[in-house]
Amino acid sequence: MSKTVEERRAWAREYHKQRYQEDPEYRETLKKRATAWNRVNKEKVAVFVKNWRIANVERDRANRNRIQKLRVARNPEWNKLKKLANSHGCLPVLLLHVEFRDNYECQSCDTNEDLTFDHILPVSKGGQTTFDNLQLLCRSCNSAKGAK
Ligand SMILES: [Zn+2]
Repeated sequence: MSKTVEERRAWAREYHKQRYQEDPEYRETLKKRATAWNRVNKEKVAVFVKNWRIANVERDRANRNRIQKLRVARNPEWNKLKKLANSHGCLPVLLLHVEFRDNYECQSCDTNEDLTFDHILPVSKGGQTTFDNLQLLCRSCNSAKGAK
């Protein structure tokens, strides 16, 4: 007895799925093809992603949490810096430059532990978050300065 179209399709799906799992070369080929297709069909991809997110709110949230965790795990320092930069309303790269310029040391006592970014002219007195108005201070020098 010959197979129906549906059966043949199901068989083909199963075949490709299995090959995808077992054959790394095949996997790479398909991934490359998909990437190329996605690049040419950006609008279609955007619509698909948008609809998928609406239909799969929980999985979307789980995915995003997972990605965020991976990012943090891969680079905790960068994420700390990004958060700090966000709270200062500046770009992380500005803080990187300040750290580099100040040689990763407290500008008052030269320690390299427990460093913070200090506004030389305090924000409360109109100081801005700029390269020239930021310096590295350790936490204790920073609070000593704040107490003045
Ligand atoms: Zn210090």
